[in-house]
Amino acid sequence: MDWDKVIKPSSSYLVLGDTDTGKSALAYWLLEKYSKQLGLLPVVVGLPVNKAKLLPTDFVTKQSIEEGGRVEDAIILFDEAGLQLPLDNVDVRDHVVNFLSLPYHRNQVFLLVYHYPRLVLSRYLPLFQGFLLKRPPYLISFASKRQGDELTEMMREAEKRFGQMADSEIVKWTYVVAPKQRWQGSLENPLPSFWSPELRRVWGDVDFNNRFEEPVMSDAEWVALKQNQSTVQHGVDLICAVCGHRFPALYSGACGPCFAKWALDCKPKPKDRRFPIR
Ligand SMILES: [Zn+2]
Repeated sequence: MDWDKVIKPSSSYLVLGDTDTGKSALAYWLLEKYSKQLGLLPVVVGLPVNKAKLLPTDFVTKQSIEEGGRVEDAIILFDEAGLQLPLDNVDVRDHVVNFLSLPYHRNQVFLLVYHYPRLVLSRYLPLFQGFLLKRPPYLISFASKRQGDELTEMMREAEKRFGQMADSEIVKWTYVVAPKQRWQGSLENPLPSFWSPELRRVWGDVDFNNRFEEPVMSDAEWVALKQNQSTVQHGVDLICAVCGHRFPALYSGACGPCFAKWALDCKPKPKDRRFPIR
């Protein structure tokens, strides 16, 4: 088995793993390799603007998931996609299903990188051509909302394999589940040629496990931030993709209330603070 049999045109892939296990490195390598091999434009969504210089000059960056999804004939990396495309929120499922069907129509490859989706609606799983797993977080059962679902099983199997590896090996391997090829196993992934410590730190700065010493953003500030990062449409009687009602403005296709609900669902939760930190 090799990567060429896994990565196919007009497909979406879910990339999962704990912080600092090499998810982004894997995704950038796939972007570099398969943009050339499949003749697709390499696109990165969600990279902070001042970091774009870390990418090769033929790479294109987009700020929102909607903008990224519009680029045809492209291999598109949605880094830390959970912030913009929550896979556990029933209210946005039509939006997610529509989004994940784009690659089929637009000759795209989607790589959606998630730190750890606590729950992925099982109806989404068939929309992915493959699941690319780096080492999952330590306590899978604590982190997962549901036991025994398909994704948790995949993560347990991945943990078994990564548990036997030296730390330095973990970034070099990916546990791949490719249902359409009826295959699962480990594949080696080199680093992309343009890899740099600075690129690694883009998301490394965002420590998903230790957020509780950071100032907590209010819900209103968070929604405003997410609105700023989304594509805004103004008009008359625009139809919200989530609730179907008409509104004068839409944020990434959703009305204000639906967008706010969605944004708050994916707002990082500060950990319980049992002892005040001084
Ligand atoms: Zn709505």
